[in-house]
Amino acid sequence: MDYRLIPKTGQKVSTVGVGGTSLHSIDEDLGLRIVSRALESGVNMIDLTVESPNVFPVVRKALKGQRERALLGLHLGLTFLKDGQYKRTRDVSIVRRGFEKQLAELGTDYADFAYIHYVDELADVETIFSSGTFDLALKLKKEGRIRQLGFSSHKTEICRRLLATKEIDIFMFSVNPAYDLNPVANNPMNEDWSDQNNLRVIKDRSELYRQAESEGVPITVMKPFAAGRLLDERSSPFKRAMTVPQLVQYCLDRPAVVTCLAGLAAESDLNELLAYYDSTPAQRDYSIISRLTLEDLRGQCVYCNHCLPCPARIDIASVHKFLDLALAGDQMAKNHYLALKNQAGACQECGSCEDNCPFQVPVREKMKGALKLFGR
Ligand code: SF4
Ligand code: SF4
Repeated sequence: MDYRLIPKTGQKVSTVGVGGTSLHSIDEDLGLRIVSRALESGVNMIDLTVESPNVFPVVRKALKGQRERALLGLHLGLTFLKDGQYKRTRDVSIVRRGFEKQLAELGTDYADFAYIHYVDELADVETIFSSGTFDLALKLKKEGRIRQLGFSSHKTEICRRLLATKEIDIFMFSVNPAYDLNPVANNPMNEDWSDQNNLRVIKDRSELYRQAESEGVPITVMKPFAAGRLLDERSSPFKRAMTVPQLVQYCLDRPAVVTCLAGLAAESDLNELLAYYDSTPAQRDYSIISRLTLEDLRGQCVYCNHCLPCPARIDIASVHKFLDLALAGDQMAKNHYLALKNQAGACQECGSCEDNCPFQVPVREKMKGALKLFGR
């Protein structure tokens, strides 16, 4: 097991961690075996972005008598309805109750990390401040219920806005080559590379990683495998499968990244994740992505939003991302999709996005797919 240090506290963080997202879908005994084996192997990062409250008792059992072995990441604003369905909220009294309930169900009185859950819109950032959610988070930290305060987001501008508060100790961000890469051509955000057909990491994203590193704010990675899509050539936008060691190494090579949180739904998933530590440099080598061209990605969305503007003000990249995640089995994707300001149902089928997309993605078809799947 390898560890990285949290700059401000010197805490040691395992470079891979358990993402709780898939644990609700398996029976309790299997979940317990997975979390217990992960802990025995030296994994100390356990994130609780969970879709069902039935995950908390499993983690509680795994931690019995050894709470100090784990660094638990809880989410402020992640709650559950009476029937157990996941719901994001900014109602400060529900946020507090939900957080306390999670602690109680885990049998602990503090969270090592607490992330303000899933902030992807600037309007939502304002709601976090105006609703008292941010003040609550600071208060919980002062009380010692939260050791380190963070947020989770998929958007660079949101990360920058929240980092500017100077109150953020850590943040969770979606990192993988599909989210990072972009065609050099037509992209003013990229540096002026001579080969206009190649793909490079989006400058805006690489700058965020460098900013986080220079400010000493570590990044915990969610979706390192894009919900498994990148591991399968049939679902990968690169039309070829990448491996767990390649994708873990890719994430760990980004500045500020301290850990990759992977959803685990089987013991084999844990085995594959831990096999990263036995892999050779050649097995971790992900340089194949530097040889990808626009042609390789034809028809595949890489979530770059070069297709905007959209007259219906649809965030096309996010619609595609949540559609792809849902099709890959991510249960939270639907909620995230429904939280978008404008959904696929608003599409006017004007086709301007398809003219702008460098990858010739059939956007209108995908909008119809999203409408059919999500109902809006
Ligand atoms: S449809 Fe094309 S331009 Fe739009 S986000 Fe996807 S890849 Fe980028
Ligand atoms: S086709 Fe739909 S998604 Fe594309 S730009 Fe027009 S309204 Fe927006």
